[in-house]
Parts: sequence; C-alpha cells; structure tokens
Amino acid sequence: MSDTILTELGERLVTGSLSDDELLADTGTSPPVHILPDANVVKVGGQSLIDRGRAALFPVIDELVANLSEHKLIIGCGAGTRARHAYSIGLDLGLPTGVLSVLGTFVSSQNARMVHYLLAKHGIPFIEPAGFAQLPLYLAQRRAVVFFGMPPYTFWQRNPETGSGRIPPHRTDTGVYLVSEVFGARSMIFIKDERGLYTADPKKDPDATFIPEITVSELKERDLQDVVVERAVLELMETATHSRRIQIVNGLEPGTITRALNGEHVGTVITSD
Ligand code: ADP
Ligand code: MG
Repeated sequence: MSDTILTELGERLVTGSLSDDELLADTGTSPPVHILPDANVVKVGGQSLIDRGRAALFPVIDELVANLSEHKLIIGCGAGTRARHAYSIGLDLGLPTGVLSVLGTFVSSQNARMVHYLLAKHGIPFIEPAGFAQLPLYLAQRRAVVFFGMPPYTFWQRNPETGSGRIPPHRTDTGVYLVSEVFGARSMIFIKDERGLYTADPKKDPDATFIPEITVSELKERDLQDVVVERAVLELMETATHSRRIQIVNGLEPGTITRALNGEHVGTVITSD
C-alpha cells in the first residue's frame, strides 16, 4: 500500500498497536466536532417527576413546548420507582447487573412512550437508539425528539465497583448525559424535583444546605453520602470533550426550565475542572 495516502498518524495506526499508550495519546490532539451545537439535551426525571403524574409532568411538558420556538430539545426520560421495584425483584431472584439493566431499559422506555404521546400533537417523534441517525432531521423539522434515557448497554452494562452492589451504575442520568457529550450539545439540563445539589438529600436532612455551583473535583473532595445525579455522570464529566457543564433544576418550580434554557444560572451548575 502506498504510504502517501496515509497521514503520519494513519501510518502508525495501521501498522502499530492500539494498546500503545503513546500512539493512543496522539489520536487525541485535535478536538472532535460539535455535531449538534444548538441542541439542548434535557432529562425529565423518572422518580422525581414522571412518577408524580399529571400534577408534576403536565407543567413540565407545557414549559418544554413553550420553549420550542426558541430552543431545540433532545428530551430524555428517566425510569423511576417501577424500575426500582423491578430491580428489587431481580435482586431477590439473583439476577446479574446486565439483566437488571435490561429491566431498567424497559421502564425508561415506558416513560418515554408516555411523554412522547403527550407531545405527539406537536409532531414530536420518539426515537430508539437505532433511530438516532434521523435525529438531525427531526430537530430541523420538529425541533424536538423524545428518547429513553437508559444507555443501551443491556447485558454489556459494567458491574458496579466491588462492594457497591449490583444495581446498574450507568442508568438514565448517564445515558442522557452521554447524548449531550457525543453530539456536542449546547446544554445538559437535568429536570428533577429539588432546587439542585445540597450537602445532603434535602428530603432526609432538614439541615442540608444548597450548593449553587461546584466542580467535579470539589464534589469528590466533599465525599457526600448521596448526590442528586448518578455518580457515573460525574466520572464521565472528568474526561468529557464537550459536555463539561451540567445544570440541575427544579421542574416543580414554574419558569425554571425556561431560565435554564436561556442560559441563566438557576439550580446547581456542576463543571468539569
Ligand atoms: P430522577 O427522577 O431524575 O431519576 P432521582 O430521584 O434519582 O432523580 O434523584 C433526585 C433525588 O436525589 C432528589 O429528589 C433528592 O431527593 C435526591 N438527593 C440525594 N442526594 C441529594 C443531594 N445531595 N442534593 C439534592 N438531592 C439529593
Ligand atoms: Mg435517578
């Protein structure tokens, strides 16, 4: 093969080893493109919002629709209480993490279907992982899509760290976050039922204090017993190329989603260092 058609890096990639640290480091010297730089990825919480039914979800849906003229939205859905019920039975039956991951995927898909039918009259489609190739067309034409948040790892889901049990560590916060990272989206907004991150779960600790902004390493240093997003998201943020800022907002407080989409600092902002 003529070596003139290959870059110097290309030459080394076809002849060298993909386990060579130096070669691997050289593949990261130019930054990846932002594929959908004006799309906003938003996650509608499962336990925190969808499980609360119409009282919580309808105002969130209305606010998302009201923002369509200004903002393109990739709407991911959480799983919530029904997934936890499935996990509890699966654990009792001795099923491994990869199978629990399959169960969680179905529940987050149920929620996404429900959200999708509420948005259907606005012409907004539901897409599965295989349908992501059509995402740019849908965003250009309808300005939004709905998808299920669970990353499609199913059986290939990694086990939690030793000593951290068997629940899939990469769940819907993580799946939705990874969409914002790979497409180089404009923002990643988690819509939940609390103002943002506190020093402890505010539902359990009345003395918990609100944290308006923090970096991933500061958060690690604090070693909080519980946090408002999946810990896997924080880990992935450390090596993210695009999605190095996430925002957690309270969907029960009207107007907050709009303010976040408009770039205002509402809720908690967590940034990579
Ligand atoms: P989702 O519905 O998106 O899956 P979760 O219910 O999993 O959201 O996570 C949000 C919940 O996390 C909040 O309702 C809150 O009770 C809880 N939580 C735990 N630790 C914290 C913390 N340090 N700060 C804020 N909320 C926390
Ligand atoms: Mg959750």
